[in-house]
Amino acid sequence: MKPAPFEYQAPASLEAALDALARHGGDAKLLAGGQSLIPVMNFRLAEPALLIDINKLAELDFIRRDEEGHLRIGAMVRQRRLERDPLVAGMAPLLHEAVPFIAHPQIRNRGTFGGSLAHADPAAELPALAVALGARFRLRRAGGDRWVAAEEFFAGLFATALEPDEMLVEAAIPPSPARTGWAFLEVARRHGDYAQVGVAARVTLDDSGRCREARLVYLSVGDAPVIAREAARLLAGQELSPEAIAAAAEKAAGDEMDPLGDIHATPEFKRHLARVLTRRVLQKAGERARSGANLS
Ligand code: FAD
Repeated sequence: MKPAPFEYQAPASLEAALDALARHGGDAKLLAGGQSLIPVMNFRLAEPALLIDINKLAELDFIRRDEEGHLRIGAMVRQRRLERDPLVAGMAPLLHEAVPFIAHPQIRNRGTFGGSLAHADPAAELPALAVALGARFRLRRAGGDRWVAAEEFFAGLFATALEPDEMLVEAAIPPSPARTGWAFLEVARRHGDYAQVGVAARVTLDDSGRCREARLVYLSVGDAPVIAREAARLLAGQELSPEAIAAAAEKAAGDEMDPLGDIHATPEFKRHLARVLTRRVLQKAGERARSGANLS
């Protein structure tokens, strides 16, 4: 299908783009990589009167480390760059490990970091990763900005904290404590398909090698990224023994998620996948934490 008619603007500066958003608000959509928006428009699930193309905004295409040691990633960074960037690999290896699971290289060449976060597909990898990493997002509107924690940003199915006149301009990912390990795994029917279930894990050990803090965040098992808080609590103060890991996986895949079935997977099968993947990511994250990796 073809999209409904729309106007098109391609502002050359962030200020101009924010002005256009302020003027047209709910009638406008930002066009980043177009990998989700254009299909949605072709199916006429969205019929914006105006597309504001932000591809000329070079000021949103950056990856850097700030003075406080946070990793800062601009909204217009392509997913393919994220995957290959050495600073991301060094400071956020969880992202580096997981981004290749997003779609196919052709899509990652166009798809952007900010576009995926703003789209808030519950089956997308980047929202769950951002929550796992404790990221914060900077949302800008004409004349002001605010920071929102990733955990509070994702408000439900394709829903976020963004107001119609706001743009997500960057994310800040805090540095990881020492003795932190990470792992990401997902199951998809074919490589490049959206995952049936995916999970990002981070584990920080204390000086005695016990779990000081754990974080488990799932995709494709709810309307938004799902955090298994109780499972993480079970691990706190424990050695990451096979028994402790199995108990956490059981908890996470049991009470802490309520996956909907679809034509590819029943809720029971999704829980099974979540249980198995959780055991594997915790095992791997624990090994990495023990081996002295201090970044995630
Ligand atoms: P766009 O499509 O341009 O925009 C998406 C939405 O976000 C629009 O509503 C737009 O207005 C809004 N938006 C964009 N940028 C901003 C911003 N800076 N601030 C506020 N709002 C903004 N994704 C996955 O995560 N995993 C997959 O396995 C996967 N598989 C895919 C397979 C196929 C065949 C295709 C076509 C896409 C797939 N995707 C997948 C989606 C892909 O990752 C998209 O790139 C991503 O979801 C959207 O990024 P984009 O830059 O293309 O955004």
